[in-house]
Amino acid sequence: MAKLKPGVVTGDDYLTLLEDCKTGGYALPAVNIVGTNSANAVLEAAAEAGSDVILQLSNGGAQFFAGKGLKDSAQAKVLGAVSAAQHIHTVAEAYGVAVVLHTDHANRGLIGWVDALVDHSERHFKATGAPLFTSHMLDLSADSLDFNLSESARMLARMAPIGMSLEIELGVTGGEEDGVGHDIDSSADNSHLYTQPEDVLRAWNELRHIGHFSVAASFGNVHGVYKPGNVELRPEILRESQALVSKTHGLETLPLDLVFHGGSGSEKAKITEAVEYGVFKMNIDTDTQFAFAHPIGTYVEANAIAFKHQIDPADGTPYKKQYDPRAWLRKAELGMVERLQEAFTDLGSTGRSLTR
Ligand SMILES: [Zn+2]
Repeated sequence: MAKLKPGVVTGDDYLTLLEDCKTGGYALPAVNIVGTNSANAVLEAAAEAGSDVILQLSNGGAQFFAGKGLKDSAQAKVLGAVSAAQHIHTVAEAYGVAVVLHTDHANRGLIGWVDALVDHSERHFKATGAPLFTSHMLDLSADSLDFNLSESARMLARMAPIGMSLEIELGVTGGEEDGVGHDIDSSADNSHLYTQPEDVLRAWNELRHIGHFSVAASFGNVHGVYKPGNVELRPEILRESQALVSKTHGLETLPLDLVFHGGSGSEKAKITEAVEYGVFKMNIDTDTQFAFAHPIGTYVEANAIAFKHQIDPADGTPYKKQYDPRAWLRKAELGMVERLQEAFTDLGSTGRSLTR
């Protein structure tokens, strides 16, 4: 019998999914979406792969979802995330896979954004018995560990009673995601790019009794796709954190649920190794952005005249079919669907949906 019903999963169903990832040795892609085109493309890709999937919004993605024309950007970030979640709740079940709904990096300035979204999930919980989102991320890695963990504890205490999970960040992911991020020091010491196992243990001690949390751990991963540089991916860092928590508390070998940020452009062998050490979620944005954009570029080149004239100035041919946004947006969706098949394969999740 299927372990999960298709549609958005939260609470215990989410934990069932994470447990299966870990015992099955696979992970799920977490894809950033900015509108219904990208949301539907991710769902279509997951249905085609027979994999469960994670959809997430950055604060900028959420704002874009509500509309860049809205004057109050803070309000737009809340409304856009809620709107995206409602859309996904409406259609996800029809795609036949389990869907995790998440929001990406929120630094100190965006704590209010997450609190406002938890307000919405509380209302949704009262009405339906489930939160609107599965989980949120608080990225306070630029602040002190004290502040990071005390604020994460406060947020998790709000989220846990309504079946929500929190992703925190320890150590820093290089590069930036929507204005939240850190420069890579190309000159020397990049030890801050590697999570310290002692910090992970402290997070476990301070958060685990409150509720479920996952850790975006840094092991040399970088947002965006760059030429190979001087920051080396060292997934064994993840194993060291797992071992310390496991040994200290006498737990199973992989007690932590880990998240791999900056998955775009990463070496396949390092991805496999990271999954072995307990990564259940790998974020992908840059590669799927390109997969969305590239077919549009090809299409515009091939149909250049239709983007300049409604009717051919020479022979009167109408070009409505060519410039209809559905024609080229569909190409973009299919580009994303195709690129994501590679991600499901890399992470070993193809054909493993718990709804089957
Ligand atoms: Zn990230």
